[in-house]
Amino acid sequence: MSETLEGGCQCGAVRYRIAGRRPPVYACHCRECQKQSASGFGLSLPVRGRDFEVAGVTARWERVSDGGGRTSCFFCPNCGSRLYHVSSVTPDRVTVKGGSLDDTGWLRPVAHIWVSRKQPWVVLDPAVPALEKQPEDLAGWRRMLRGEG
Ligand SMILES: [Zn+2]
Ligand SMILES: [Zn+2]
Repeated sequence: MSETLEGGCQCGAVRYRIAGRRPPVYACHCRECQKQSASGFGLSLPVRGRDFEVAGVTARWERVSDGGGRTSCFFCPNCGSRLYHVSSVTPDRVTVKGGSLDDTGWLRPVAHIWVSRKQPWVVLDPAVPALEKQPEDLAGWRRMLRGEG
């Protein structure tokens, strides 16, 4: 399905568009995502950088990721909403934070990662793949996101 998805921060100062195919959605239950979202888990949509367009001024905070790379975390400097991440390991890709989309009604995770850190009240669909930690095999992980794994 091809359509343009739109989203933005809580105050509306930063807006973005995602072109191309509708990206897959996965949920990460790690402590970093719990902190980042100030909630139970993070929702991520991996998007090609060339399909992602931002309007408005963003601020950036950087952290060292588990794989040893650096993750640049972009957010609205006015309201603080976290909007997307870019990893130094995959600089041509953007990970959009799912809850910032205008329409969140279609979001269904195709995979869960870091379920070893999951909040006990979050009950997962046994039909959806769930990894104890982060994916080790990047190619296999991408197949899983495409629903081929
Ligand atoms: Zn804002
Ligand atoms: Zn995480």
